[in-house]
Amino acid sequence: MLSTMQDVPLTVTRILEHGATVHGRSQVITWTGEGGPRRRSFAEIGRRSAQLAHALHDDLGIERGDRVATLMWNNAEHLEAYFAAPCMGAVLHTLNLRLPADQLVWIVGHAADRVVLVDGTLLPLLAPLLPRLESIEHVIVVGSGDTSVLEGCRPAVHAYEDLIARKPTAYDWPELDEREAAAMCYTSGTTGDPKGVVFSHRSIYLHAMQVNLAESMGLTDADTTLPVVPMFHVNAWGLPHAVFMTGVDLLMPDRFLQPGPLAEMIETVRPTHAAAVPTIWQGLLAELADKPRDISSLATVTIGGSACPPAMMRAFEDDHGIRVCHAWGMTETSPLGTLAHPPGGLTAEEEWPYRVSQGRFPASVEARLVGPDGEVQPWDGASAGELEVRGPWIAGAYYGGAGEDPIRPADKFSPDGWLRTGDVGVITPDGYLTLTDRSKDVIKSGGEWISSVELENHLMAHEAVAEAAVVAVPDERWGERPLAAVVPAPGAEADYEELRDFLGERIAHWQLPERWTRIAEVPKTSVGKFDKKVLRAQYAAGDLDVTRL
Ligand code: AMP
Repeated sequence: MLSTMQDVPLTVTRILEHGATVHGRSQVITWTGEGGPRRRSFAEIGRRSAQLAHALHDDLGIERGDRVATLMWNNAEHLEAYFAAPCMGAVLHTLNLRLPADQLVWIVGHAADRVVLVDGTLLPLLAPLLPRLESIEHVIVVGSGDTSVLEGCRPAVHAYEDLIARKPTAYDWPELDEREAAAMCYTSGTTGDPKGVVFSHRSIYLHAMQVNLAESMGLTDADTTLPVVPMFHVNAWGLPHAVFMTGVDLLMPDRFLQPGPLAEMIETVRPTHAAAVPTIWQGLLAELADKPRDISSLATVTIGGSACPPAMMRAFEDDHGIRVCHAWGMTETSPLGTLAHPPGGLTAEEEWPYRVSQGRFPASVEARLVGPDGEVQPWDGASAGELEVRGPWIAGAYYGGAGEDPIRPADKFSPDGWLRTGDVGVITPDGYLTLTDRSKDVIKSGGEWISSVELENHLMAHEAVAEAAVVAVPDERWGERPLAAVVPAPGAEADYEELRDFLGERIAHWQLPERWTRIAEVPKTSVGKFDKKVLRAQYAAGDLDVTRL
């Protein structure tokens, strides 16, 4: 028997229309570096999105299913593209501006993007690539920049404001199927070509609702959120869509992502929430220690993208009174997978083990752990396995290219359709996930596994250490052993024996690294995560000054 309920498609269009009317007075505040931030209401964003859609369709011939790329910072205009492209039936493709040139060229070609919106400040990055971006027919320059670098280029060049000026401020948005593509994002995998994840209207809608639940970020229209996480990194964790549902003001950092300007914009605009990867927060904490600022408006920060060192959580709480919520996710999971809110009724100390975990699964994300022999492991907090997930905002395949079928590599998708995350961990009976490693980063020492993340977290809790990364290096006797690479805190020496003794009080003796090196900074990926393959390569090439204890 079927239900008697209406079958209304869940679309980004509905999110836009709701935000632009019911929350029309809410604000998008874009930081400009100097001269005060720019403010635009949700109602204006709605009107300008319609104007952009007219320009894309009427002037540039963009049709349903065509890909519209963005090479942009977090700002109001990027948000307009976030709504214009999907709502008119096209597909928003956010490009990661930190990727190497060859990868960007490959990705644009694979997605067959027809248009690219580019921030004027990023023209020096785009212009040299244009001769190789064969699918691009139009370049839309947002804001000011040196357009002389585009002289003689093949694609037509348009100025954003000129293009949308005088266009109607309403658009007759098409009726879309909720399963149609709305946006896409490529993961910069460590091996092979990047993989395209294509989000549907439905997945974005349901994910945004989850972001808004109290068990996730739970913000209301009394809040202002600062997504430091770029809009090209898994849709800024869903915040741009989520706020249009609830009327939360958005503080957009634009290109001002260094600790100094971030501290200044927090002090000036007074957001109540912010979201970013640990590296950003590490920098901000160091900046504040050096140059105190009032960041007391922040009640919570959501930290994810890589493991948040517990010492960083403590520093936020003890020094600044800000509560950290740790979260786990990936491009393929839209990205929200888990958030570490503790169960109710516990004391602060009892809450701690829950809060430093990667967090709890929401109802819509099913999880299982698969051990090395393919057996599903129990949720007992001890049995480790590779995490596999499924749910309405979890990828079931990668984009195969224009006209091609989606691809499902066997190392990424199980035969029964679950996403293989490549993350190894344990789950407690009440559904809290603790990741011990990426499957490729775990240190396999004499038949036992050593968690690189656990060693790093302990090292980063030592006052002489600013950052630490631990990687597996080949060892004749044990197969692999840990190499600890430490970045000394300013003015500190980071004495190896002292650090080893410190670790020895916290972990089993056989897990202690014998190889140590000091480095100026931990190499990072294009989205600010520890890039351990660079460290492993530096070690293999003999580029590190290694001491053996
Ligand atoms: P990306 O698709 O670039 O966002 O990368 C996703 C990967 O980042 C995950 O598979 C994890 O390995 C890692 N990651 C994300 N959040 C966390 C976290 N809270 N703790 C540990 N690793 C994380």
